[in-house]
Amino acid sequence: APIILWMRRDFRLSDNPALAWAAEQGRPVIPVFIRDEVVEGWGAAPTWRLGLGLEALAERLEGIGSRLILRQGRALEVLRALVQETGAETVTWNRLYVPDERARDTEVKEALREDGLEARSHHGHVLFEPWTVETGSGGFYKVYTPFWKNVRGREVGDTLSAPSALATPSSWPESDVLADWELGRAMRRGAEIVAKHVVVGETSARSRLSAFVADRIDAYDSARDKLAVNGTSGLSENLTWGEISARSCWHAGQRALQDGSKGAETFLSELVWRDFAHHLAYHTPRLTTENWREEWDGFPWRDDNPDAEAWRRGQTGIDVVDAAMRELYVTGRMHNRARMLVASLLTKHLMTHWRVGCDWFADTLVDWDPASNAMGWQWSAGSGPDATPFFRVFNPETQGEKFDPRHEYRDRWLQSDDFYAAIPESWGLSPDDPRPAPIVGLKEGRERALDAYRDFKD
Ligand code: FAD
Repeated sequence: APIILWMRRDFRLSDNPALAWAAEQGRPVIPVFIRDEVVEGWGAAPTWRLGLGLEALAERLEGIGSRLILRQGRALEVLRALVQETGAETVTWNRLYVPDERARDTEVKEALREDGLEARSHHGHVLFEPWTVETGSGGFYKVYTPFWKNVRGREVGDTLSAPSALATPSSWPESDVLADWELGRAMRRGAEIVAKHVVVGETSARSRLSAFVADRIDAYDSARDKLAVNGTSGLSENLTWGEISARSCWHAGQRALQDGSKGAETFLSELVWRDFAHHLAYHTPRLTTENWREEWDGFPWRDDNPDAEAWRRGQTGIDVVDAAMRELYVTGRMHNRARMLVASLLTKHLMTHWRVGCDWFADTLVDWDPASNAMGWQWSAGSGPDATPFFRVFNPETQGEKFDPRHEYRDRWLQSDDFYAAIPESWGLSPDDPRPAPIVGLKEGRERALDAYRDFKD
């Protein structure tokens, strides 16, 4: 009987544990992607980027004589229908750890087992699964450094090679046509503008990793904070879609370290931040939607408001912030240092709830990762575990001078024609507009935030 391989965020053939296991069984394998209840909730940019990822994955599967079946509907119902149609007795997949994906997967696993089927999940999305990293007293970690120390010396196992062929079923089940899904519908700027900046698929992801290790990992330590420099790996986009495994990146980092690369240790520890986000999302599911520290529910953050709208549109009048917000809109990415700066401005100077910013990122990032995004926002806002203290308010001007001393980053994005080509007409912006005056005085904004914090603490 065939095996249904349910693919979700693991768009690769290499080092894909569920795929490798299915291939080893010597039975026909039916790879399927389901546009289900979780996928329907994703923002515009991730949904558009999903379409590109699926196209590349289908091509890879075709390269080994297989196919990717596309279906829509509630995951459990679709899987049951496929079982009926194909006579499959096994469904297999790689595990995920954020609350909505986990809830779906638990339901599916239990129901399929009640149906008498084999439901088998694998470890393939992170380096260290959340329940395998425990503090001395058997709890989970809330602080990064001890988490890092715990996992730093662990073995992650060898990577699995891509199967050279997958046995096919005697007849393929029906599949939707990807184009009919119109995954780019909410993303008019996708095909023309953002597309210039994405690196899609397993083959490109591997080249990206090799190029990073060959050219940039040595200087990573010092270059990673410079806004105008391409000093980082860019791999978040591929990691979030599983176009490369975290384990492949880990091994590449380890090899560079053995070759004496100075930046390699920092790169490894950044990879572990991604694991830490999934660790937290697993052990404290409220991370993705609620203040991680419940006492922050009493903080007088504003809900969405006109200042937040100016922030989204790159119209705060604060150069480095507007540059970063435009980078995001045009490329679907933002430099990590800039993410911290814009998050600080929104949650502190503009006294707006981190959720407002988190939602905008979820709608615009092609590397959107529900755990890393929420952790990043709560870290910046002060409501998260191991967060930067609220009273540490970044001054965007000083930060701009420090991390973009020659104004290259600011000039690049404030003068970007692509930004004006990308934005909806309804924003009413033109390149001839003068720069807006700052919507908040940096000093007043800072004092207002600190006053609110003092009242809240008392
Ligand atoms: P590199 O510097 O090359 O790092 C290598 C890999 O390590 C990254 O690809 C990523 O997978 C991981 N990593 C690095 N830094 C972090 C971090 N702080 N947290 C978690 N993982 C990290 N990252 C996402 O992948 N998706 C998000 O939705 C996301 N939202 C964020 C929101 C905010 C407010 C902040 C402050 C950070 C966010 N990050 C997010 C983390 C970080 O900014 C990006 O991972 C990084 O910019 C990606 O660039 P890179 O691949 O070149 O990273």
